[in-house]
Amino acid sequence: MQSCLIPEQKGEMVYRCLGCGNMHGIEKLLYTCPNCGQVLLIDDNHFDRLKETPGEVWRRIFDYRRMLKIPALKGIYLYHEFIGPVIPLESVVWLGEGHTPMVEANGFMQEKAGARFYFKNDGQNPSASFKDRGMASALSYINFLIQTGHVSDVLAICASTGDTSAAAALYASYLKPHIKSAVLLPYKKVTPQQLSQPLGSGADVFEIPGVFDDCMKVVENLAENYNVALLNSKNAWRILGQESYSYEIAQDFEYDMDNKVVIVPIGNAGNITAVMSGFLKFYEAGLIRTLPKIIGVQSEHANPVYLYYQKPEADRKFVPVTVKPSVAQAAMIGNPVSMPRVIHLTDIYNRKAGGQKVFVVEVTEQAIMDWELLANHNGHIACTHGGESLAGLVTAREQGMIEKNDVVVLDSTAHALKFAGFQEMYFENKFPAEFEVSPKSELVNTPALVRPADLEKLPAPGKPIEGEDFERFVKRTAEEIAEKLDLKVINA
Ligand SMILES: *Cc1c(COP(=O)(O)O)cnc(C)c1O
Ligand SMILES: [Zn+2]
Repeated sequence: MQSCLIPEQKGEMVYRCLGCGNMHGIEKLLYTCPNCGQVLLIDDNHFDRLKETPGEVWRRIFDYRRMLKIPALKGIYLYHEFIGPVIPLESVVWLGEGHTPMVEANGFMQEKAGARFYFKNDGQNPSASFKDRGMASALSYINFLIQTGHVSDVLAICASTGDTSAAAALYASYLKPHIKSAVLLPYKKVTPQQLSQPLGSGADVFEIPGVFDDCMKVVENLAENYNVALLNSKNAWRILGQESYSYEIAQDFEYDMDNKVVIVPIGNAGNITAVMSGFLKFYEAGLIRTLPKIIGVQSEHANPVYLYYQKPEADRKFVPVTVKPSVAQAAMIGNPVSMPRVIHLTDIYNRKAGGQKVFVVEVTEQAIMDWELLANHNGHIACTHGGESLAGLVTAREQGMIEKNDVVVLDSTAHALKFAGFQEMYFENKFPAEFEVSPKSELVNTPALVRPADLEKLPAPGKPIEGEDFERFVKRTAEEIAEKLDLKVINA
């Protein structure tokens, strides 16, 4: 085991086309199959060698590796053999991503939701969303291509609902001057916090009219016609990095996936692809004995994947939808790029599990907001998509997909602060009608201005008040707060 603690460059990774099945070498950056145009996944042709190591030994390798102090192994590449065995540790870019905490909900929340559950806080990644996992993988690979002289002066480009661009710009900026980045955002369809991120990282930022799906088409055109590196999840390296989410869950449950359920929001469907793929690999290599249930969640306002799985198997044909405004804005996607991957992996997953283990549910915008705010009233830092996961849990339980002793992990895909504007719209009852959200009074919270009417002089920035005036100001203000909070005076 000791000789395996520090991983070596091994394996033979290839792009595999989900359309024609052809394999393509990874020395060139590919996003779609040059023969048929379908999306790709990356396989390790030597994956079977991983099965020669017993599951028990793998578990010990990963548990011991967690104690090492090597930066390259502190993030997603803790699972190097499963994520990118061809990437040497010298090429690994680690900015602090991965190993996010899994926080159990309190008794009140578990009772409310009707199940035992945890939030896995992917908002605690460096750019405050799970996208950092995929970027660490994609940029480590590009760094490897640069170091080996296969490419130089890379322009990394992506379309984004906000978080992909934040992550791409962050990781690309670390590799300056070899990599520059440009991001395309749907105009006014990302939050001010998300817009500030690529700007702050020094990327070229372009705002495009329309929604994400329109930006994606422009980026695809750029990737087809110009020499740029596409960083959307169409890039299969992103998927590999995001598999780390599954590996971490397995490790945190000591590899016991019996009665476990993982719930993720679906937008472009890269994340659910990665989550399925990750558990499948650990299952194949004998690290876990059971495949957990996986439940994807979509808003009614952006639900193409849900609608696909609603149809009887024989009639299933993917139809993109026109999206409506959604508080789960990062998942507001009508034509998910990874749909062929989802269809492919769902089949394999259910087959290997010996029955249906992958489900998709839909939830209302109202439920997303209400559950997000209730969770955050109880110690969480869920974003709207985390709220979507929780609303999905409640729906799935009502529909009988969750059993009594199941333990659920909810993906809180970003930090609450990125989507604070939706909380503000809720508190101020300012949602435009098309969102279909109205506030519940018990969840509304607004600041109260305390300015006692009987005070003549008040402090102002640059204009402090002094002496008796100041003492009076302090006393009267404290009294007013005490009154509002119904505080009792301590007997002297
Ligand atoms: C990207 C994103 C999603 C959707 O993930 P996909 O891989 O596109 O399905 C969900 N939540 C947040 C916060 C995101 O940034
Ligand atoms: Zn092909």
